[in-house]
Amino acid sequence: MIAGLRDIELRTRPEHPDLVAALRRRWDELPAHVKTPNQMLGRRTAGCEGTHGVFPRCNLACTPCYHSREANRVRIDGDHTVNQVDEQMAYLRRQRGPGQNAQLIGGEVTLLAPDDHFAALAAMIAHGRKPMSMSHGDFDYDYLQALALDPVSGRPRLRHLSFAGHFDSMMFGRRGIKRARTEAELNPYRQRFCAMFQRLQREHGITHYLAHNMTVTPANVAQVAQVTRDCRDMGFRMLSFQPAAFVGNTARWKADYRAFSTDEVWQGIEEGAGSRLHWRALQIGDERCNRTAYGAYVGRRYVPLLDEDDPRDQRFLDAFIAAFGGMDFVAPKALLAARVARALARHPRAVPGVGGWLARAARRAGGVRALRHDRPQAMTFVMHAFMDARDVRPAWELLQQGVVSEDPAIRATQERLQACSYAMAHPESDMLVPACAQHSVLDPDENLHLARKLPLVKVTQT
Ligand code: SF4
Repeated sequence: MIAGLRDIELRTRPEHPDLVAALRRRWDELPAHVKTPNQMLGRRTAGCEGTHGVFPRCNLACTPCYHSREANRVRIDGDHTVNQVDEQMAYLRRQRGPGQNAQLIGGEVTLLAPDDHFAALAAMIAHGRKPMSMSHGDFDYDYLQALALDPVSGRPRLRHLSFAGHFDSMMFGRRGIKRARTEAELNPYRQRFCAMFQRLQREHGITHYLAHNMTVTPANVAQVAQVTRDCRDMGFRMLSFQPAAFVGNTARWKADYRAFSTDEVWQGIEEGAGSRLHWRALQIGDERCNRTAYGAYVGRRYVPLLDEDDPRDQRFLDAFIAAFGGMDFVAPKALLAARVARALARHPRAVPGVGGWLARAARRAGGVRALRHDRPQAMTFVMHAFMDARDVRPAWELLQQGVVSEDPAIRATQERLQACSYAMAHPESDMLVPACAQHSVLDPDENLHLARKLPLVKVTQT
């Protein structure tokens, strides 16, 4: 009975003690320049996570492609994937506590057999991660059903699926449209992707969260606004744009990716969103890497979660973090209510702040009548700018030696790596590695090793 009470006490805490410790560690490690009042790393989240070396192969060809040249020489092997995912996620649970977002990423996730894909997601969930499968979206409803339903009973084996679909005109080989001349030509494929998940929900009650990813190069930067507009009502809850970087397979570098600025990309997103986006209200890591704007559409109006110009919203954010910290709001209702009650009991000053913020957000939305008329639809806009391999390699190598570079460009790269919000696990060397360093420095050797271990033609012993 005492053990049961202890368990209830632990589960109803706003934050798991392992998460509290992980956040404190992350905050202590952060470089001074990102320890700003709006910084969420080390206060609300330990950062995003991704898998590596678990299924490097892909069946589309993109320019650019962040995967090393050797990636397509590695066979898809479900046992390898599930074992590696399990080891990497166990390490992340130890280092970062529970409840963090983790991407099942590498090559193309739907090249995995549905049961292997499911087993990988199950391993992630078992280690307290919130998994998101990263795909090019060129798969069929049958695959989605086989992933989500138990093959014996036909009943759902997952209650919720989170997927990111990558669609842009830099990709080649998609069924039905080998090569898109414009982004708009891909809209039917984006719609088809969303429609599959909507059908899964209708037929089996399995809910979903969908993100849309797009690589931005000089060839499509002028179309960012239109893509944002077109995707707004398809069913995506996050639109994420990645300005291209010189990383991965050099044979796939086709343009001067520095011919435009990240500001230009963000302007396109704002134009398509139909609103100024308040990305400075919250920061995740270094602003040269990430911009994130949280909010919701109420009818055609985009309502920011926080107004970056309103000091009352900043004070509310401080009180919210003090009360809730990294608390996971995705929980069964009774558990959530208990966590909220305990969080507010320890910081009662957050209570009036919540009321004030709700009132301001309702005003921004056009008032109660507008909210009654149009149910708010959450939408997050993201820009994530990876770095060039030629900068990351020396920056990372010097960081391993504890040396701060005197070259301003390399030093800036080091600052960003130290404030990285997207890490990959290396349990074998007891390290968390920024995704930029993974792709720029570690991937080529890792994939060479995997190509020997998992050659395309399976050799069977007789
Ligand atoms: S260092 Fe690289 S992987 Fe990390 S947040 Fe910055 S751009 Fe992203």
